[in-house]
This record gives sequence, C-alpha cells and structure tokens, in this order.
Amino acid sequence: MGEFDVIARFFTRAARRSPLGVGDDCALLAPRAGMQLAVSTDLLIEGRHFLSTVDPHRLGHKCLAVNLSDLAACGAEPLAFTLALSLPQADPDWLEPFSRGLLGLADAHGCELVGGDTTRGPLSICITVFGEVPAGQALLRSGARPGDDVWVSGSLGDARLALEVFRGRVGLPSAAFEAARNRLEQPTPRVALGLALRGLASAAADVSDGLAGDLGHILRRSGVGACIEAEAVRALLAVRDGVGEAEALALALSGGDDYELVFTAAPQHRGAVQDAAAQCATSVRRIGRIEADPGLRVLDAQGRPLSLNHASFDHFA
Ligand code: ADP
Ligand code: MG
Repeated sequence: MGEFDVIARFFTRAARRSPLGVGDDCALLAPRAGMQLAVSTDLLIEGRHFLSTVDPHRLGHKCLAVNLSDLAACGAEPLAFTLALSLPQADPDWLEPFSRGLLGLADAHGCELVGGDTTRGPLSICITVFGEVPAGQALLRSGARPGDDVWVSGSLGDARLALEVFRGRVGLPSAAFEAARNRLEQPTPRVALGLALRGLASAAADVSDGLAGDLGHILRRSGVGACIEAEAVRALLAVRDGVGEAEALALALSGGDDYELVFTAAPQHRGAVQDAAAQCATSVRRIGRIEADPGLRVLDAQGRPLSLNHASFDHFA
C-alpha cells in the first residue's frame, strides 16, 4: 500500500463544514463571523506516550481526545483537525481500527479531518486541532484571582494507576484495572463542559501532566497561589479498590494523562458552575481556593500544610 492509497482509503472523507478538506495543497477553514480560531498541537510517540501493545482503535480515539481536551480547556468548539502520521509500514489491519477510533470521536464532536501528512518512519502521530471561540471569550490560564474556588472535573489519577499496573509496580483486582485502563486508553475530552464554563470560569487548563503541575501553570500565569484539601483531592481518584490513602493522593495530585479540566471561578458562580456541569452530565468537585500568596499548598483534614513528599511517586519507585 502506497502513501496515497493509505490517505484515500483511511483518511479521506467529504468535507462538511469546511470549504475544502483532504486532497489539495491546503485545506480551507471558515470560522464564523466574530469567532477566533483556537489552535493546538499534540505529538504522540510510541514508547513515550503510548505502549506499542495498545489497541489501535483506542489509540486513534486517544490521539484526538488529547487534542480536543486542549480546545475544551479554552472553551473552544471543535471545527477541524489535521493528522501527521509516521508509520513503520502501511498495515491495513492497524490502519483500519486506528482510523475508526479516530474518526468515531471526530464525528461525535463534529470535528472534520481536513488534511495531514503521511510518511514512513517510527510510529508517531501528530494532530493539530482547530476550534472556534467568540472573540475575547476563550478561557485562559491567566485569569485566576484570590478568593476564587478551584474546581476539577471528573476523576484524576486513574490513568496513572493503570500505567503503574502495566509497569508491574502495582497490582489491582481485575474490574478495578479495567476501569483504570479505560481512563488511560479512552479519555473523555470535556468539550461540553469547557463551552459551558465560558463566562463563568476565571481560568482553566486541562490536566495532562498531573493536577499539581497543571494547576501550577494557572497559578504562575495568574500570579497567585492556592490551597487545596488533600481529602478532596484524594476523592478525585475513581478506582479505590486496592489503593492506599497515600497512593490515592499521589495519583490524583501528580498522576497525569487524565484530560480533565482544572478551573477557577468566583464563589458567586458556585451554583452556576454546578448547573453547567449537570447540563453536560459531568461531575465537578471543589477542591480549594485561590490565594494571593504564590505556590500550591495541600492541607490535611486539620488544615495543616502537608509536605509534598506525601504526594510523590516514591511509592512506586
Ligand atoms: P503535499 O505533498 O502537498 O504536502 P501530500 O501529497 O502530502 O501533499 O498529501 C496529499 C493530500 O492528502 C493533502 O491534502 C494532505 O493534506 C492530505 N493528507 C496527507 N496525509 C494525510 C493524513 N494522514 N490524513 C489526512 N489527510 C492527509
Ligand atoms: Mg505531504
């Protein structure tokens, strides 16, 4: 199978919203009047971002999911994406499920594949996603203010827990492992929540590198600090069967690969945030608040700051 056969068979579909899709030198996008384009790129490399054994259908889903998650964090509506693919060989048995996983999620979000590049090489997948957001309304990392609540959607830490099982460092009952593995291999980008938070959230980011790190980005960009409650953070881990307290905190605080949203909002919006989340059938939890004093503090049940060693991955070393 040549490069053009691969493109024609697996990655060419009729353009819908875009004036021009796959097949020309450029694709054309037509954002609606008054909208800004939100653009984000993620590169996934075999061995570093995914295991070589992962089911290609799930991999296709995940590659787009991590990009849609960036649009969600900005409150942008998905429009289109491009796919740059480096493949060791053109294997239809791999390409067919990969493209189904990818395009299935794309269709669910009305996000069209409009172009890309295909080349022989080590397996890597680079997607650039385009979304639109009303001018001036994108959710940024820089808007958190002292007194704002800190919120997190869904669950955190389960993806990393599955990875630790794959690495042989942790054992889990099989139902718990399957639940955690789904979080690792099939993350759900919180696109609807991101849209619903426009005008409510003062700042937002998606959690790809772990809560401490990604909330840290919001804090630095906003020039503020935060206090979060260990108990609330621990409760973000969905899979609890066979996981100790210290591990639960470490996983939820610094696990990574979650693709949830961490966001801040003024306390007067608490009810509206809950309503917005309920409308998109996504759970949200308040885990702390923004303070003027820079840095991230994690408090125990008595309100005392924990040393962050408690949340490190020494448990798994
Ligand atoms: P060029 O040489 O002008 O970069 P290519 O020959 O690489 O164009 O690609 C031909 C067409 O196929 C282009 O429209 C390109 O965007 C599209 N394309 C290439 N690879 C992919 C892919 N993996 N997915 C979607 N479209 C692709
Ligand atoms: Mg090319």
